[in-house]
Formats: sequence, structure tokens, C-alpha cells
Amino acid sequence: MKTEVLEVTEKSDSILERAAELIRSGALVGIPTETVYGLGANAYNRDACLNIFKAKGRPADNPLIVHIARPEDAENIAYTNALYYKLAVRFMPGPLTVILPKKDIIPDSVTAGLDTVAIRCPANPVANRLIEIAGVPIAAPSANKSGMPSPTSAVHVYNDMNGEIPMILDGGECEVGVESTVISITDDSIMLLRPGQVTVEMLSEVCENVSVSSAVIEELKPGEKALSPGMKYKHYAPVANLYLVNGEYIDFVSFTKEKSTKEKCAVMCYDEEIALYEKEILLPVGKKDDIKEQTKRLFNLLRKADELGVQTIYAHLPKKEGAALAIYNRMIRACAHRILGGENG
Ligand code: AMP
Ligand code: MG
Repeated sequence: MKTEVLEVTEKSDSILERAAELIRSGALVGIPTETVYGLGANAYNRDACLNIFKAKGRPADNPLIVHIARPEDAENIAYTNALYYKLAVRFMPGPLTVILPKKDIIPDSVTAGLDTVAIRCPANPVANRLIEIAGVPIAAPSANKSGMPSPTSAVHVYNDMNGEIPMILDGGECEVGVESTVISITDDSIMLLRPGQVTVEMLSEVCENVSVSSAVIEELKPGEKALSPGMKYKHYAPVANLYLVNGEYIDFVSFTKEKSTKEKCAVMCYDEEIALYEKEILLPVGKKDDIKEQTKRLFNLLRKADELGVQTIYAHLPKKEGAALAIYNRMIRACAHRILGGENG
């Protein structure tokens, strides 16, 4: 199959019409969103959604997120409640996914047999317009091969999906750079299953009772059941071995300079540290306190490290607070919990 890559804005009516027709007819399309690129299919089409799992090599028990154009479109596919609409007023459209009890119209292939469905209303104008034109909700996980870093540009999607899908819409680089915040809700409580740009602190402004699933920062214990099935897989991982360095106990710059004399490694340093290095392979992550920029660059840098053919990547151990929790959660999985200096030294 030939894979077309087409540059789009929300005004590219004829291209979006073609993409919508592909979706309606059961094909898969690579779609830009504000978080990462998605691999979209008609959420009402059982077989199309099964093809997402095939194209990604995704484990069958890891459910998909269903994307809708307007928060109220959730009524077609799920049983909502008052808290859902409070969250919608504050965060939708945007990078927040809410898990709700599903209606029968959503096939089991989307929810991996669960009786709940994950719902998101994307803010990216191309994604939002495409869903509107398609006239059906779009099930879409990240458009990478399963286990690889998520794609934040159309080139990343092409590298992973060339020959397997008919079309990729190129809407430029993703604004956020990591996947959406995933929460499950009851009438009066929120549980965070995956951190993203919408933080615990922000959710707490809408609901008093916010808890964080232990899987967000810890490894699952043997036999423990994952509330969000995606949490149990090694994820977001480059081919190179990633190590996180705890700067409280190890001097990051001198340690990575020393390592660079012995092995072909890449160093994910802060912008402020660039001048302290000489010939080392650097992948600057952004300024030390610029979490937004660090989030945006994260997956692109992990992919770049593999393109450079390094064996090892060293990066700062991220903090667990606020927006940095999303970086911590992705990196801790990408490095399979290898922390030099230890979490606490
Ligand atoms: P991705 O589409 O690659 O961003 O992955 C979707 C994430 O949402 C995965 O971590 C899934 O486990 C999670 N998810 C999707 N549907 C559900 C659900 N019904 N219950 C819990 N987690 C879900
Ligand atoms: Mg994914």
C-alpha cells in the first residue's frame, strides 16, 4: 500500500473530505492532535479498529481512546455525569481523556472487552474538523509501532507506518508532545491513570477528591491488575538503553562527560549545560525549568538518539511534581526503571 503524506490546516476542505471518507469506509489515517499523532479509525467499525491493533502491533488487551468533536457527543457512546460536564467546561476541547461506562454502539475491539470507554475531545483544529466532517467518532491510539516513542511529527508516523496505512495528515509538530491525561471518574471523585498536560493540581480545582493510581509512578507488582491496561507495558522506549541520572547524588555533567569517553552515548542535558561540554553527543531538552518545552521535545529526542545509533542515552531524573509528572511517567517506562544514583540515592 502506498502511504500519502498531505500537509493540512483545518481549512484544507478537500483533503479533510478525502480523509473523512477513508475513515468512514473503514481505513486507517494518521492524524495530528495537540498531544501526539494518532492512528485513527471509525470507532463504530469493529474491523477497522481491529486493524489499528494489527498496524501497531498493539497487545489486544490495551483499549483505544475515542475522539469526539464536541464534549456533548459523548452522549452517543457513553453514560456521562455532572462531573464529566464540569471537566468539559474547564478542559475540553483539550488533552484530557475521561473514562466512562460505555454504550453498546462502541464495539469490544475498541475497549478491549472492558465495559468502559475512554473519551477525548481534541483541541487541534485539524483533528477536530476531521471528526466533524467524518460524522463518526474516531478511535485513535498513538500512531507509533507499539512500545516505540510516540510520534510528534508526520515524519515519525511515516517512519513507523509507511506502507501500512493509505494516508497521513501532516499538521506540523504537536504542541504538547506527550499523550493526554487519562482519568477515571465517579460522581464526585477522579483517579489519575496517566499524567499529561492537565495536572493533578488543575483537576483539583474542579473536584476535591483527586487520587493518583500507583501505576503512574511505580512498577506494577507481580500479579497486580492494571486499572489502565496501557500502564503495564514497557512503553515509549528507544532502541538505545536509557538511564536516568539522579543529580542529587551524581554530578550529571562530569558523569556523562566521563561516560562519553568510553561509549557511544547521547546526553539529554539542559540548555544551560551545553557550554560545559566539548565533543559529546548532546540532545538538549530545553531550559532546566521549562517543563513545557522539555515535554514537547521528549519523544523527538528519544527517536533522534536512535537515528544517531547511540548505545546509551543519559538523561536527568525528572521531578514528580506538576506538569513534570508526565515526563517522569514516560521516562521511567522508557528506561525500564533504570535510575543511576537511585530514586532516593
Ligand atoms: P494511547 O491511545 O496509546 O494513548 O493509549 C490509550 C491509553 O488509555 C492506554 O494507556 C489505555 O490503557 C488507556 N485506556 C483506554 N481505554 C481505557 C479504559 N476503558 N479503561 C482504562 N484505561 C483505558
Ligand atoms: Mg500509545
